[in-house]
Amino acid sequence: MSGETILIIEDEHDIRELISYTLENEGYNIHKAADGLSGIASARKNKPDLILLDIMLPDIDGLEVCRKIKRDESIGDVPIIMLTAKSEDSDVISGLELGAEDYITKPFSPRVLVARLRAVLRRNMDPQVDDNQRISVHDIQIDIKKHEVLSEGETIDLSATEFAILSHLASNPGWVFSRNQIIDAVRGQDYPVTERSVDVQILGIRKKLGTQGLYVETVRGVGYRLKSE
Ligand code: CA
Repeated sequence: MSGETILIIEDEHDIRELISYTLENEGYNIHKAADGLSGIASARKNKPDLILLDIMLPDIDGLEVCRKIKRDESIGDVPIIMLTAKSEDSDVISGLELGAEDYITKPFSPRVLVARLRAVLRRNMDPQVDDNQRISVHDIQIDIKKHEVLSEGETIDLSATEFAILSHLASNPGWVFSRNQIIDAVRGQDYPVTERSVDVQILGIRKKLGTQGLYVETVRGVGYRLKSE
């Protein structure tokens, strides 16, 4: 039993109750809200460990809720998983850019929900970058201070931009980043990065990583992620 507290902001009664039932069975404490404003109020009051946030809400939409929560100092670091319909790719991108940690497309199975939620809670507690500024994921080792990358034990030669992009993805395995988020993360590097050039950089990274490059995944319509272990 985990004891962590989850806030569900979802206007559809049946979905809200299904999620609540599923998570209570997993040992989570649940708070529920049926619209955006009461969801924000509940977040401020109850300080949950994670928020499940529907995008289509009756009062203010989920993106606005996400923006308000992420800008609120007292709750801005609470991870948010958005609940979206299949057709809402642009909303997913906006949500990620507003700071949401992940999204789940409806309809989803309870098992998928629990797995994603656990993954977000875990990575929030367990940062990938160690005290020596090193990241180790799959068979990729990144030394941020030395600007070195080993793939399957072999040193590989990345450009400064490729290095910055890979380090950013590898710092948060499993997280999806939009192209704009990737651009923001590498700004100030040697290259005027555009959305299109992010695609080109990713191709270069994959090629240089060899087999490990398969872990650099395209998330269709949204962006890129490094697969979690
Ligand atoms: Ca809804």
